[in-house]
Amino acid sequence: MSRYEFTCPDCGQTIEVNEEMREATLAHGCPVCGADVTGAAFAPNQSTN
Ligand SMILES: [Zn+2]
Repeated sequence: MSRYEFTCPDCGQTIEVNEEMREATLAHGCPVCGADVTGAAFAPNQSTN
């Protein structure tokens, strides 16, 4: 499953999200403060085991 680390550019909250949550956050904004976010707020969070 794809996972991303979301860092809100407005409130600074960091949340680990999956692809579905990433899409929802892009569509609806930060789940904490509601700020508009772009794809740049997400970094791939891949485990290497
Ligand atoms: Zn926020």
